[in-house]
This record gives sequence, C-alpha cells and structure tokens, in this order.
Amino acid sequence: MPELPEVESFRLYMDSTSLNKTITGVEVQSSSVLAGVTKNALQKKLKGKKFLSTSGYGKYLFAETNNNEFLVMHFGMTGFLNYYKKRDEGGKYIRMQVNFKNGYHLAFDDRRKLGHIYFTDDLKKFIKKKRLGVDPVRENIGYSDFKKYLTGRRGTVKSVFMNQEIFAGIGNIYSDEILFHSKINPNTSFEKLKEKDLKTLFRKMKDILRLAIDKDAEWGELPENFLLHYRKPGKDCPLCSGTIERSTIGGRSSYYCNKHQRLVK
Ligand SMILES: [Zn+2]
Repeated sequence: MPELPEVESFRLYMDSTSLNKTITGVEVQSSSVLAGVTKNALQKKLKGKKFLSTSGYGKYLFAETNNNEFLVMHFGMTGFLNYYKKRDEGGKYIRMQVNFKNGYHLAFDDRRKLGHIYFTDDLKKFIKKKRLGVDPVRENIGYSDFKKYLTGRRGTVKSVFMNQEIFAGIGNIYSDEILFHSKINPNTSFEKLKEKDLKTLFRKMKDILRLAIDKDAEWGELPENFLLHYRKPGKDCPLCSGTIERSTIGGRSSYYCNKHQRLVK
C-alpha cells in the first residue's frame, strides 16, 4: 500500500511528467474511484486547465491547477501513476486518466480499486475533513510536537502509529519498520512506553521515512537489514538470531522479530 514515501515518489513523477501541459479532457474508466466528484464535474474543472504544482500530505497527493483548485489522489492498496502516450503502454487497470494536448495521458492505475480521487478548492478544509493528524515529514515535526500528538493515546503502539488521525502517512509497512528498528514489539501497549522508547521511536520514524524518500521508495535500494525485505513468518531476522513472526493488529498483518523486539511492560 502506498504510504508517505511512495506517495512522495508519485509526486515527483508527476512533477517530471505532467506540469504545465494543457489538459484536453478526462476519462473515467471506473467511477467507483471518484469520491465526492462526478465525472462531468471533473471534466469541467480540468478541461483547458494545466497542473502548475504538486504537494502531498500523509498518503494524499494534490495537483494544483491554474485555477487554484486541486485534483486529490489517494492510492489505496495498489494505486500508482503512469504517464504514457500509446494505448498499449497504458496498463491494465486504468481507473481514470487525464489527457494532455501533447498526446500523452496521466493514468491513475489501481488494480484493486481501493484508491480515491477527489477535487477541492481548499486543501486545509480537505485535510481537516479527513481528520488527518500531522504529516511527520512534510511538517518536519520536532520531538516536542511528536510527544504532543501522542499524549493520552491508548492501544497497541502499532495501532497508534498506523492511526492517520495521529501521524498521517505512516501505514502498515512503515509502522512495522519503525518498530523493528526501535526494538519494540508491535503488541506493546502504548501507555507502557518510557521516555527513552519515545525518543527512539521519534528518531527511527524520521530516519526511516527520510531514507525511503531519498531512495524514491525503491525497496530494492533500501538497506538489507530492513524488515520490508523479510515480511514472511519463519524468515531469519536480519538484525539478530531471532525469527520473523506475524500477528494481526488492528486488522492488519504486522511482522516483527520474536527476539530483539521486546514487549515493554
Ligand atoms: Zn531480531
């Protein structure tokens, strides 16, 4: 599932392909991805316009038009962008695409159709309506802010870190990764964490997200000791002599090492 680093890589991709080009129209292949906007409204809003810039917040990507409005994309589980010219380069699961005057198309490709497309003229209002917490990277939060957002939180540390109303952009994969390198078991009750655990979590969260963004979210470029290469029960832990295990937390499969990730009591 595209999380903050992946969405940032899509944003850069859009910057390098789709800005300052006249839009001739929009095609919607699966209207189920449209959220709060109709195909006709989208067509009306984008036809004749250009995308001037992009930004991101949490798992959302925003493309601003020269009318100061925003196409908003959330990539669900399998979404990504594809800028292409010939039909046969277009991919199998195009749900919506923007056509440009130069003959190219920007496709929103999403096999499982869990992504969403919105349109808004007010980003702040959109973020508020979605009840998104702070974006830890783009808002560049410090340790005191980090602690402030975590005050009074309950539940497992894993579910706290996946909660978009606390930290927007961290999902199943990166919450596991942060806990793995912080040496904390994902089933640990959040309220059991000590100050030193929070400091470690803050540092690892920053380091891991920053590194993933720097590597353009290319998993193959990420260090060999990253858990995301070993997400299978029974695998050897790349950090110690332990074994990777799986446990379901908050409806998601969490992976962790049974040896070096301690349950804080
Ligand atoms: Zn280990």
